[in-house]
Amino acid sequence: MSLNVKNVDSLSFAGKKALIRVDFNVPLDEHFQVTDDTRIQAAVPTIQKILNDGGSAILMSHLGRPKGGPEDKYSLKHIVSAVEAALGQKISFASDCIGEEAIQKAAQLGAGQVLLLENLRFYKEEEKGDEAFAAKLAQLGDVYVNDAFGTAHRAHASIVGPPKTLPSAMGRLLQKEVEVLGEMRNHPKRPFIAVLGGAKVSDKLGVIEALLSTVDALVIGGGMCFTFLAAKGMPVGSSICELDQVAVCKRLLDGSKPIHLPEDIVGLNAEGNYATFGIRLPEGAKGLDIGPGTAAAFTDVIMDARTVFWNGPMGMFEDPRFAAGTKTVAQAVADTKAFTVVGGGDSAAALAQFGLDDEVDHVSTGGGASLEYLELGDLPGLAALRGAPNVR
Ligand code: AMP
Repeated sequence: MSLNVKNVDSLSFAGKKALIRVDFNVPLDEHFQVTDDTRIQAAVPTIQKILNDGGSAILMSHLGRPKGGPEDKYSLKHIVSAVEAALGQKISFASDCIGEEAIQKAAQLGAGQVLLLENLRFYKEEEKGDEAFAAKLAQLGDVYVNDAFGTAHRAHASIVGPPKTLPSAMGRLLQKEVEVLGEMRNHPKRPFIAVLGGAKVSDKLGVIEALLSTVDALVIGGGMCFTFLAAKGMPVGSSICELDQVAVCKRLLDGSKPIHLPEDIVGLNAEGNYATFGIRLPEGAKGLDIGPGTAAAFTDVIMDARTVFWNGPMGMFEDPRFAAGTKTVAQAVADTKAFTVVGGGDSAAALAQFGLDDEVDHVSTGGGASLEYLELGDLPGLAALRGAPNVR
């Protein structure tokens, strides 16, 4: 399926002010220093392309989860020096993403210059997709570029609003993400397996159903495995288990595609002590990681595949006692000769924690966005770009 979305090479930016939606939702330490600038670096190729063309860049992003008004700890002023370091040039900052200051600073921008706007989520209108708010953002630029893959599955104002009036394109990061995920979704080398983990099965049922029509096998660990084990009639003790999803899991297990589930479990016994269990958990026991036998079996499946998609940790890996399953799976994803894609969020964090992030073919910058793209083959952010007007 062709994306049918313009990219930055199909627009001319000379003399234009480009309003660019980036995802600079980066982690900060207690001194407001950026501890991981991956997301800033990921947007540099798009910004540089626009500046090299003789355009200027107005960057807009969210940071954290403010409650709908300004909060100093979520101010994007804290990341100005990190953006300057990534771009190798000074930038200016507007202390409000809309209004007089932003309008003036945007108007003053010359070719090759960059303006960063304050956090979009200081307005509750952003997440509501408010059209009037989006129009105020759009007023700042001549063209719009979306390079915020991690937020492209949200119909937020800065994602779907500006393309209604401005000529628009996807940035290089968004383009690369959807090309890699699209190729994997539509033309995978087989066997294609998906390894899914994470806490809740209900969050991922949509993508599990969609993947079952594409993959050759599913591998399921993490908290979500207990709902599947319950569907097979296994006692799961006091592990997280979504009883209202058991029937759906049973239907999926009865389907034609193999679903690999754990055969041993690591967790806490009823007394709260670390223990390894078989597949039937005693009363009061809580499963918090896949066991060593399961990790070895999952490794075999991953090593035999030619395409692997991995999303979600195999256990509560933030606790070192329950990180072994996730570490073994991460190592297998790093070692396999298969084409490997890791779908953002916790699995990307786990890979980085184990120093394996350079060992896979693609680490997506969006957890939720990569799952939604695999499920639906499209994102609200892409659909919005498709509807944009032509260059004036
Ligand atoms: P998700 O956001 O759905 O990908 O879930 C990630 C979270 O699931 C991580 O914080 C893990 O600690 C947690 N998790 C994984 N396995 C388990 C488990 N067996 N029990 C409780 N939490 C888990």
